[in-house]
Amino acid sequence: MKRLMYPGSFDPVTNGHLDVIRRASRIADEVLVAVARNSEKSPLFTTDERIDLIRAVTASIPNVRAVTFTGLLADAVSAFEVSAVIRGLRAVSDFEYEFQMALMNRELNPACETLFMMPSPEYSFLSSRLIREIASCGGSISAFVPPEVVAAIRGKMERTVHD
Ligand code: ADP
Repeated sequence: MKRLMYPGSFDPVTNGHLDVIRRASRIADEVLVAVARNSEKSPLFTTDERIDLIRAVTASIPNVRAVTFTGLLADAVSAFEVSAVIRGLRAVSDFEYEFQMALMNRELNPACETLFMMPSPEYSFLSSRLIREIASCGGSISAFVPPEVVAAIRGKMERTVHD
């Protein structure tokens, strides 16, 4: 059984993440989309909300499962018995950090292999941070994230305005 783990913050999940998830789901028996707990100081969505959104937008891909992990990714790899970690590479700018992290993870756990996947070019400029910034300034994000995420962000913004 080839199980891959795609870890990240996913705050929120974007069409770029979804592109990588779909690609990974075609080469693996199972893909675990793993939300890192407490990785950001003030996230827009709670871990549970991020998990719910990932579940909603991957509902049509049967071999995808959303999970959370705390602590080191290198340890989560053994705990979830995954064959490899998937990371997305958007541009050369991602490479240095990802390269460093992949080697460090293998240093920490020799069984922790990392595979890189490139999204379709139309997603290569997308990041969760940009989505949050555009949304907080009232811009349209519907071309960049699934409709479930648009609705969830709208809900957050309305609550913030009314609080
Ligand atoms: P981080 O783990 O740095 O918080 P994210 O949660 O945003 O990053 O993303 C998790 C993984 O998905 C990372 O490997 C990141 O490079 C990748 N990724 C993010 N956005 C995209 C995108 N638009 N296309 C492809 N990969 C992406």
